[in-house]
Amino acid sequence: MELVPLTDNGAKGKVYIVGAGPGDPDLLTLKAWRLIKQADVVLYDALVSDEIMQLVNCNCEVIAVGKRSGKHSAAQEDINQLLITKAFHHKNVVRLKGGDPYIFGRGGEEVSTLVAAEIDFEVVPAVTAAAGASAYAGIPLTHRELAQSVTFITGHCKAGAGEKVKWQEYAQSNHTLAIYMGKSQAPNIEAGLIEGGRLPQTPVALVYSATTTKQKVVIGTLEKLSELITETDTADPAMMIIGEVASLHQDLNWFLPQQQRQSPHNIQNTSQKMAAAFNGDKLEQIL
Ligand code: SAH
Repeated sequence: MELVPLTDNGAKGKVYIVGAGPGDPDLLTLKAWRLIKQADVVLYDALVSDEIMQLVNCNCEVIAVGKRSGKHSAAQEDINQLLITKAFHHKNVVRLKGGDPYIFGRGGEEVSTLVAAEIDFEVVPAVTAAAGASAYAGIPLTHRELAQSVTFITGHCKAGAGEKVKWQEYAQSNHTLAIYMGKSQAPNIEAGLIEGGRLPQTPVALVYSATTTKQKVVIGTLEKLSELITETDTADPAMMIIGEVASLHQDLNWFLPQQQRQSPHNIQNTSQKMAAAFNGDKLEQIL
């Protein structure tokens, strides 16, 4: 889709590229929460949780531009164009993205478009899926004895680019791999890492729908990675954590998905109290 130049006196609004975190609304930043509340229009991804979408004001225009691997969604160019169009007509445009906008979120491309169109913008960082999955599954990504480094990497390369990740190059031990969009690449990841020298018995964790009431954690070994996915896969997003640290899940796990979450009623109450806080009451009183 071609970018359509909008004339007149330029855009009257500002675009906020906002990270919504991995799902648990309690993990939103205060800034994200405030912007969601003040938005005139929200363009949101499929990965933004329903609970977070419930925080959007009822008089706000809400547009789903969901992108999930393999499923039809708005093309990136169309999303870019929509951001520009909305900025011309609305004051507060919120582009709400799953996790952090600048970690495998194509936030950079959207911001480049805004820069080119001379539209005001801000970027709001957030908890990325790797950090959410790590904390809520009891798997520290680094650990003095088990992992001195961590790589955030995507299994999903640009379609048609012909580039493939050389997994052999990521095979050193005492190193954690936090793999986004890795499910479909599991056979290559497993084979490449083992070929590169990683032990077949290296622990792996799959964390489905991390930080949400649907969170599911599956632990296994690298040599069984593909099998593990075939046996447990759903349409839910998953973080793959490969490395010795995955063995800590058994002892450090604390999150009980069904029991920990506030009811939507309580979220709404908290939300109303926070609105009051931003209107002048003391924030400490309600937290
Ligand atoms: N910008 C996002 C990542 C987008 S890429 C971030 O910072 O988290 C989409 C991939 O992120 C999914 O395929 C999955 O691998 C991972 N992901 C996002 N949310 C997740 C969640 N709640 N649980 C597990 N994985 C998640």
